[in-house]
Amino acid sequence: MATKTAEKTAERKFAGKIHEVVKYPDPVLARRASEVTEFDHALGTLVEEMFESMYAAQGIGLAAPQIAISKRIAVIDVSFGKNEAEKYALINPVVLLGEGRQVEEEGCLSLPEIREKVTRAERVRVKAQNVKGEWFEVEGTELLARALLHEIDHLDGVLFIDRVSRLKRELILRKIRKLQKNGEW
Ligand SMILES: [Zn+2]
Repeated sequence: MATKTAEKTAERKFAGKIHEVVKYPDPVLARRASEVTEFDHALGTLVEEMFESMYAAQGIGLAAPQIAISKRIAVIDVSFGKNEAEKYALINPVVLLGEGRQVEEEGCLSLPEIREKVTRAERVRVKAQNVKGEWFEVEGTELLARALLHEIDHLDGVLFIDRVSRLKRELILRKIRKLQKNGEW
C-alpha cells in the first residue's frame, strides 16, 4: 500500500537488494501466490529486502508478488519506520475475522498516482507465520486493518481497483491507458 503523502525517507544503511516494484497489469499481480514451505535463511533475507524495498518506494505495505515473487509473503509498517513494534512480516497469512466497515482512500505501489475510496472491514484478526515458521496473530483497526486486507488481497491476485464500482474501475483503467500512451506508466 502507498503512503498518503510522500514522506522523506531517512538515509538507511542496508546492504541487501532493493527490488523494483512491478506495475499493473503485470500478470504476476493477478496470480494466486503459492504457500511458503521453507523457513530458511533465504526467507529471512527476502523479508528484510522487502521491508527496505517498501521504504525505498515510500510504502507502508508490500506483498511479494509486487516484486515478481509469487509467494505468500507480505510486509507492513504503518508507522513507516518510526516504530519497530508496528513492523509486521506475514508469511502465509489468513484472515480469521473481519468486523465493521470503513471507507477510505487507498493507493498501491503497483498503481502509482491512482487513489480511490475502498470499503474494507474496520477491524480484522489475521494469523500468519513468522520467518521461523511460528504462527502468531495480529489484530488491526483502521489503517492497519486496511493494510492487512490490501496486502493479503495481493497474495490472491486481487488489487484494490478490483474492489471499486465498475464505473470507477473503468475511469481508473482509462487514466492508466492515458499514462501508458504518454510513456508515464
Ligand atoms: Zn498494493
